[in-house]
Amino acid sequence: MPYLDHNATAPVLPEVAEALGRALVELPGNAHSQHAAGRAAAAAVEQARDRVAAAVGRPASLVRFTSGATEANAWALSGRTGAVLVSAVEHDSVRAWGDREIPVDGDGMVDLDALDRALAAGDVAVVSVMAANNETGVLQPIDQVHARCAAAGVPLHCDATQLLGRMALDLPAELLTLSFHKAGGPKGIGVLVGSPLPPPLLRGGPQERGGRAGTVAVPLVVAAGVAAERATWPGADGRRAHLQAGVEALGGTVLGRGAPRLPNTVTALFDVPGDLLVMGLDLRGVAASTGAACASGAAQESHVVRAMGRSGLPLRLSFGPTTAVDELDQALAALSDVLRTAREVA
Ligand code: PLP
Repeated sequence: MPYLDHNATAPVLPEVAEALGRALVELPGNAHSQHAAGRAAAAAVEQARDRVAAAVGRPASLVRFTSGATEANAWALSGRTGAVLVSAVEHDSVRAWGDREIPVDGDGMVDLDALDRALAAGDVAVVSVMAANNETGVLQPIDQVHARCAAAGVPLHCDATQLLGRMALDLPAELLTLSFHKAGGPKGIGVLVGSPLPPPLLRGGPQERGGRAGTVAVPLVVAAGVAAERATWPGADGRRAHLQAGVEALGGTVLGRGAPRLPNTVTALFDVPGDLLVMGLDLRGVAASTGAACASGAAQESHVVRAMGRSGLPLRLSFGPTTAVDELDQALAALSDVLRTAREVA
């Protein structure tokens, strides 16, 4: 059964599940306790921190575990003195903290001149631009964004949640957000990496070097470390091009077609709304998405599509490192069937 919704969440890797199960049983201690069980838990947490640090190419001392990307984004952007500048296509967990938006072009890439103009106002505390868009897979020019921010003396936060397990993570941003369930890890664990860190979002205990209060979720942290270590991608292997050609042959207009994109994502607008396509595919055993958040089961038109100057609900197909071309072909055959049925009814 093709599972083409990796951008929503990816299946847990077997070695991650195994490490998680073992940690639940074999590491009963609180990582801040002083006895042997506590020390064993703390050592496992530090080993996981080292693995995450290696995956992002930063010192382990800059890695702070959180409950996921939503919390890491909130920590990075809350409590700022000055304006928070975010791109118009950010995930809602970033947009929620934005005071002003940087527009994007028709392919979903940030407008660098608009960024320059916004920085020139002189009151910007932090800029947040994502590495890869969860709905379209469009990659932002983080090097160029960072150069502009650095010239203005403003730190850059980058939500790199969709990059983990898809592409290399060598990003120049001061602060980086990741969430491990997008790449074979469990849900409910992420990191904020970098410096300078804003004041803690969760206050109380001294955990995470005073950055994040609350008992450390040792089994999830251990599992995150294993996921970080395994998070590789086979490279540009032609699967996206194959899927895109199939989607276009069925009449889809690919979003961000002219922009660099994640190697696993094809999102397209059809003459049939994306939520109907998702339902039809589900009936045929294919898991896909509109890419947009659902409220009470009803898909809403997304701010990302609107920011790109388009309208309508797209269909997002996002596959994983081991998805076979056969599965992509099964999904395309099912999509062809759904479209034919829907067009006959219309
Ligand atoms: N940022 C991006 C780009 C995402 O795709 C997601 C996932 O939905 C999030 C943030 C939120 O991640 P989490 O589920 O870890 O809170």
